[in-house]
Amino acid sequence: AESTQTPVISESVSTTDGTAIEVAANLGTPAEAEPAVDRGADGVGLFRTEFCFLDRQSPPDEAEQFAAYHSVCETFAEGVDSEATASKPDSEDEPRIVVRTADIGGDKPIDYLDIDAEQNGFLGARGVRLSLEEHADLFETQLRALLRVAATDAGAGLAVMFPLVSTVEELEAALDRVEEIADDLDSEGVDYAIPELGVMIETPASTYLADTFAERVDFLSIGTNDLTQYVQAAQRDLDRMNDYQDPLAPGVIRAIDRTVTAGHAGGAWVGMCGEMAGDPDLTELLVGLGLDELSMSAVTIPDVKTAIQDVDVESAEQLAASVLDAETRADVYDRL
Ligand code: PEP
Ligand code: MG
Repeated sequence: AESTQTPVISESVSTTDGTAIEVAANLGTPAEAEPAVDRGADGVGLFRTEFCFLDRQSPPDEAEQFAAYHSVCETFAEGVDSEATASKPDSEDEPRIVVRTADIGGDKPIDYLDIDAEQNGFLGARGVRLSLEEHADLFETQLRALLRVAATDAGAGLAVMFPLVSTVEELEAALDRVEEIADDLDSEGVDYAIPELGVMIETPASTYLADTFAERVDFLSIGTNDLTQYVQAAQRDLDRMNDYQDPLAPGVIRAIDRTVTAGHAGGAWVGMCGEMAGDPDLTELLVGLGLDELSMSAVTIPDVKTAIQDVDVESAEQLAASVLDAETRADVYDRL
């Protein structure tokens, strides 16, 4: 109820001492782009493209995907005034639109792809694993569409990230695919550009590899929904596991801290696009942990932008240090 009353802030926001934090929207469909602009989104931090593959008989072709991704870029290019993008890490002219390649499997099965149910659990073939193996064809079509959008005027801020990466081999294979697709488009004489590239940090292994990943890509984006599930070994859709499925558990907070520090050391900017990023009560902690960008469902954007404007970075860092010392969840909540 509170969020509907908080005034929309359409320009970019900074902390009291001038640290700009990008506040972006999570989208499931292109139709959600305009409402997100209206709520003051600086850009898109997570476009969950798998929803373009759901509720139909066959996957969308390259033209359909091009149209979908381009329309999101256009809506933001038209709707967000250039001041609003000033906070974007490594700012360019157009708002940044982070598109995640299809994250299929786990809690997002797709009937027509006929994915083996046994391989498709949370610990099975899902996310980038499917894109590199069984569904290399879908990955290729999606990358072609994305590289073509990146070459358009509205697509200048396009960024692409890969879900559920847990090894350097997977990341390198995905980056190789991007290069191969670029070569194909080049030899076909089709306009393309290589967008900014990033990795989602959603598995314990990826938190330990964050510096290595960061040397290979432009950015990391922490998916706290899956990261919490895997760090806590507690399935995200089981009610009985609710107490474990808490990103404020000390093990998860320390995994986030490790990721931000390692990502920055490797030269990447680090964002967060899990549900945690949209909780205005946690904004000070997240700024204190050093996140450069927070991406969330559009409805919470005004509250989080308002919260950022009240944050003093030095106190936020003290809060983060104190929370990182906590040994139990109760202790975390006390310190918050
Ligand atoms: C996450 O895991 O935190 C995330 C943002 O991705 P999804 O919720 O779509 O799995
Ligand atoms: Mg996820």
